[in-house]
Amino acid sequence: MCRRSSNRFSRKASLDRAREKGVVEIYVHNLHDYAEDKYKHIDDTPFGGGAGMIIKCAPVFACIEKLLAERDYDHVIYASPDGEMLDQNLANGLSLAKNIIILAGHYKGIDQRIRDILITKEISIGDYVLSGGELPALVMVDSIVRLLPGAIGDAESALEDAFQQGILDAPHYTRPADFRGTKVPDVLLSGNHAEIRKWREKQALEKTRDRRPDLLGE
Ligand code: SAM
Repeated sequence: MCRRSSNRFSRKASLDRAREKGVVEIYVHNLHDYAEDKYKHIDDTPFGGGAGMIIKCAPVFACIEKLLAERDYDHVIYASPDGEMLDQNLANGLSLAKNIIILAGHYKGIDQRIRDILITKEISIGDYVLSGGELPALVMVDSIVRLLPGAIGDAESALEDAFQQGILDAPHYTRPADFRGTKVPDVLLSGNHAEIRKWREKQALEKTRDRRPDLLGE
């Protein structure tokens, strides 16, 4: 993943749009293209026995060493359930990087020597196990790219999202002001921005206290 600078502005928000606008370049590399044998195998049985296949060193080293020879990378990340948990702080930090490699595992995992030698950061997207690292890689990329200047229409919006201030987001409403008898809180229609800010802060705090007291250290 390579960050590119752009001041262009658009209301459209998505990974594709960010790529189209030149905010980010994303390349997908198929490890099978780096396989050594004619059948393009990239996995083998584990030493010591046991179920599941392990991704071999050779194709991963061939791929990542080729990339490292082409440009400098800030991080070589391995998506792994036992990695550091992805949260907003981590995404914020990663959004400052210029170039990132994310390695998606599969099967039972990857040869430990890849982790020991090539990987600089291991990241988990949650305490559950998926069958491959492709979705975790996408989750990481999305959480990072939406923070890049120009990626989403309203740059301030990303800064006001849940977790950015250490608390959850306040409720949001849009037209109509009365939907089937359910009304939007009066304060949001008042035009009084100080009162609206106060209301949002109170709502966000109440929701955080109710759903995620751990964020408040309670
Ligand atoms: N044996 C591994 C373990 O217990 O930690 C799980 C391997 S998992 C079936 C296959 C691959 O999916 C992993 O190598 C990793 O790249 C990816 N993966 C699965 N769950 C993940 C998670 N929660 N976060 C990040 N990556 C995950």
